[in-house]
Amino acid sequence: MQGPADLHTHSSVSDGTETPTQLMRAAAAAGLGTIAMTDHDSTAGWAEAGAEAQRQGITLIPGMELSTKYEWRSVHLLAYLVDPLNGDLVKETAKIRESRLRRAEGIVARIGSDYPLSWADVLAQTTEGATVGRPHIADALVALGIVRTRSEAFDGILHPRNGYYAPHYAPDPLTAVKMVRAAGGIPVIAHPVPAGRDRMLPEAYFKTLTDAGLFGLEIDHRENTEEGKVVVRRIAAELGLAVTGSSDYHGTGKPNRLGENTTSMEVVERIVREATGSSPIVPSGVVGR
Ligand code: AMP
Ligand code: FE
Ligand code: FE
Ligand code: ZN
Repeated sequence: MQGPADLHTHSSVSDGTETPTQLMRAAAAAGLGTIAMTDHDSTAGWAEAGAEAQRQGITLIPGMELSTKYEWRSVHLLAYLVDPLNGDLVKETAKIRESRLRRAEGIVARIGSDYPLSWADVLAQTTEGATVGRPHIADALVALGIVRTRSEAFDGILHPRNGYYAPHYAPDPLTAVKMVRAAGGIPVIAHPVPAGRDRMLPEAYFKTLTDAGLFGLEIDHRENTEEGKVVVRRIAAELGLAVTGSSDYHGTGKPNRLGENTTSMEVVERIVREATGSSPIVPSGVVGR
């Protein structure tokens, strides 16, 4: 496998703006040797991405970013190389996507009482079967000229303080870590120390998750605070957790650029070695282990 490796990216199967094919082309153009595609709560883009990764001569690590929740905190769990047909995982992700859909309809109905926004406007921003999130509502608000950018929507209308927001169902992180391992995958907590209030998980809980099979922490990520990175680097060292880095690329949906943070090939190789749920797609088309 070739580096550099970017282990967290999104396609239009969730809230990225590029199709899996376009994402693989962008990854090759950005000079990546290895990319993980990690759409929210869905593995639906894996086949398309794999086919294009092979054409582009790059390695695809199929993955997913599982939505979880600890008390009021939204916690994202990257899940690499799971078995996409694992029954519990299939059921749980379907449940999350369904709840996301109902929740988005509720948010849109509330916004619709104050702004000229309809559910059809939001659907027009999604692709068939995509995991629906606030970014799609943001895109509809941009298309209607109500706000200028996704970020403006997130800082305003879509912010929880402004009364339109609603949460969606998500399992707790401990359940999710166990589920990912049971599906043969490798669980890594995405952006563990984002800015704001008290968003980091309690330190003792990292130990609980590690005992349950947590593999690593995504420390090199632009949304982690600098002070927070110091804390989670120490926690990772103490618990023997791997450290990863990635862009969390969303196409034009976020300023994050492919390859702006990367993961060492030593860690990538450990992920591939430990996973039993599925295999990376390597350029030759041969299953790589
Ligand atoms: P949701 O999961 O539906 O609550 O929406 C959260 C998603 O929106 C995350 O996965 C982020 O990728 C995305 N997001 C959060 N803040 C922003 C922002 N300021 N601009 C663009 N996308 C954002
Ligand atoms: Fe996202
Ligand atoms: Fe995330
Ligand atoms: Zn992400």
